[in-house]
Amino acid sequence: MTVSDAPSRTTCAALGRTATVLIQGVPVQVPCPSWCTVDHAAENLAFLEDLHHAGNSLSLPVTQYSGAVEHILVTQVCQWPYEGQHGNKGQPYLSIDADGSGECNGYAAAGALALIDQLVTHAEAIRQQLRTLGSIQ
Ligand SMILES: [Zn+2]
Repeated sequence: MTVSDAPSRTTCAALGRTATVLIQGVPVQVPCPSWCTVDHAAENLAFLEDLHHAGNSLSLPVTQYSGAVEHILVTQVCQWPYEGQHGNKGQPYLSIDADGSGECNGYAAAGALALIDQLVTHAEAIRQQLRTLGSIQ
Protein backbone atom coordinates (compact mmCIF):
# COMPACT_ATOMS: atom_id res chain seq x y z
CA MET A 1 0.00 0.00 0.00
CA THR A 2 1.25 3.47 -0.81
CA VAL A 3 -0.03 6.63 0.77
CA SER A 4 0.40 9.78 -1.20
CA ASP A 5 -2.36 12.23 -0.37
CA ALA A 6 -0.86 13.95 2.65
CA PRO A 7 -0.51 17.74 2.73
CA SER A 8 3.27 17.36 2.45
CA ARG A 9 3.12 15.00 -0.51
CA THR A 10 4.75 17.32 -3.01
CA THR A 11 7.65 18.24 -0.73
CA CYS A 12 8.40 14.67 0.33
CA ALA A 13 7.81 13.17 -3.08
CA ALA A 14 10.27 15.65 -4.52
CA LEU A 15 12.87 14.28 -2.14
CA GLY A 16 12.27 10.79 -3.49
CA ARG A 17 12.60 9.03 -0.16
CA THR A 18 10.06 6.60 1.20
CA ALA A 19 9.76 4.57 4.38
CA THR A 20 7.79 1.46 5.20
CA VAL A 21 5.71 1.55 8.36
CA LEU A 22 3.26 -1.00 9.72
CA ILE A 23 -0.28 0.28 10.21
CA GLN A 24 -2.17 -2.35 12.20
CA GLY A 25 0.34 -4.89 10.87
CA VAL A 26 -0.06 -3.87 7.21
CA PRO A 27 3.11 -2.48 5.56
CA VAL A 28 2.51 0.97 4.10
CA GLN A 29 4.94 3.03 2.00
CA VAL A 30 5.01 6.69 3.00
CA PRO A 31 7.08 9.66 1.86
CA CYS A 32 9.74 10.52 4.45
CA PRO A 33 11.63 13.85 4.44
CA SER A 34 15.42 13.79 4.32
CA TRP A 35 15.72 15.36 7.81
CA CYS A 36 13.70 12.58 9.47
CA THR A 37 15.62 10.25 11.79
CA VAL A 38 12.67 8.13 12.99
CA ASP A 39 13.11 4.39 12.51
CA HIS A 40 9.76 3.87 10.82
CA ALA A 41 10.52 0.18 10.23
CA ALA A 42 10.36 -0.35 14.00
CA GLU A 43 6.89 1.16 14.29
CA ASN A 44 3.53 -0.60 14.29
CA LEU A 45 0.95 2.16 14.45
CA ALA A 46 -2.77 1.96 15.04
CA PHE A 47 -3.62 4.64 12.49
CA LEU A 48 -1.85 6.48 9.68
CA GLU A 49 -2.56 9.70 11.61
CA ASP A 50 -0.16 8.41 14.30
CA LEU A 51 2.79 8.56 11.88
CA HIS A 52 5.20 11.39 12.57
CA HIS A 53 8.57 12.48 11.24
CA ALA A 54 11.20 13.98 13.54
CA GLY A 55 14.73 15.25 13.08
CA ASN A 56 17.68 15.31 15.44
CA SER A 57 17.13 17.31 18.59
CA LEU A 58 19.26 20.15 19.92
CA SER A 59 19.43 21.37 23.51
CA LEU A 60 21.29 23.80 25.72
CA PRO A 61 22.92 22.03 28.69
CA VAL A 62 22.83 24.18 31.83
CA THR A 63 24.54 23.22 35.07
CA GLN A 64 22.27 23.69 38.11
CA TYR A 65 23.37 24.72 41.60
CA SER A 66 23.33 21.04 42.61
CA GLY A 67 25.74 20.22 39.80
CA ALA A 68 23.09 18.42 37.83
CA VAL A 69 22.90 19.27 34.16
CA GLU A 70 19.50 20.21 32.78
CA HIS A 71 18.84 20.36 29.07
CA ILE A 72 16.70 23.33 28.14
CA LEU A 73 15.57 24.82 24.85
CA VAL A 74 15.20 21.39 23.33
CA THR A 75 14.32 21.84 19.66
CA GLN A 76 13.41 19.43 16.93
CA VAL A 77 11.82 19.63 13.51
CA CYS A 78 8.65 17.51 13.51
CA GLN A 79 5.78 16.70 11.22
CA TRP A 80 2.58 14.72 11.61
CA PRO A 81 1.78 14.57 7.87
CA TYR A 82 -1.57 12.81 8.12
CA GLU A 83 -2.89 14.64 11.16
CA GLY A 84 -4.61 17.86 10.20
CA GLN A 85 -6.66 18.77 13.26
CA HIS A 86 -4.01 20.66 15.22
CA GLY A 87 -2.15 23.91 14.64
CA ASN A 88 0.36 22.82 12.04
CA LYS A 89 -2.13 21.07 9.74
CA GLY A 90 0.26 18.34 8.70
CA GLN A 91 3.09 20.72 7.85
CA PRO A 92 6.62 20.54 9.34
CA TYR A 93 7.25 22.77 12.35
CA LEU A 94 9.86 23.48 14.99
CA SER A 95 9.05 21.83 18.32
CA ILE A 96 10.45 23.71 21.31
CA ASP A 97 10.59 22.35 24.86
CA ALA A 98 11.64 25.49 26.73
CA ASP A 99 12.46 23.99 30.12
CA GLY A 100 13.23 20.38 29.25
CA SER A 101 10.06 19.15 30.94
CA GLY A 102 8.75 17.38 27.88
CA GLU A 103 6.06 20.00 27.31
CA CYS A 104 6.57 21.17 23.75
CA ASN A 105 5.13 23.95 21.68
CA GLY A 106 5.11 23.96 17.88
CA TYR A 107 6.28 26.97 15.88
CA ALA A 108 5.90 27.59 12.18
CA ALA A 109 8.89 29.27 10.51
CA ALA A 110 7.86 32.89 11.21
CA GLY A 111 7.16 32.22 14.89
CA ALA A 112 10.36 30.23 15.30
CA LEU A 113 12.40 33.02 13.72
CA ALA A 114 10.78 35.56 16.07
CA LEU A 115 11.66 33.38 19.05
CA ILE A 116 15.25 32.99 17.80
CA ASP A 117 15.51 36.78 17.52
CA GLN A 118 14.32 37.05 21.13
CA LEU A 119 16.93 34.49 22.21
CA VAL A 120 19.70 36.45 20.48
CA THR A 121 18.54 39.67 22.15
CA HIS A 122 18.36 37.90 25.50
CA ALA A 123 21.85 36.43 25.08
CA GLU A 124 23.22 39.91 24.32
CA ALA A 125 21.49 41.28 27.44
CA ILE A 126 23.15 38.53 29.50
CA ARG A 127 26.51 39.46 27.91
CA GLN A 128 25.89 43.08 28.95
CA GLN A 129 25.21 41.93 32.51
CA LEU A 130 28.50 40.08 32.51
CA ARG A 131 30.33 43.18 31.32
CA THR A 132 29.45 44.83 34.65
CA LEU A 133 32.06 42.51 36.16
CA GLY A 134 34.66 44.35 34.08
CA SER A 135 36.49 41.19 33.12
CA ILE A 136 35.27 41.10 29.53
CA GLN A 137 34.83 43.76 26.86
ZN1 LIG B 1 10.13 9.94 8.60
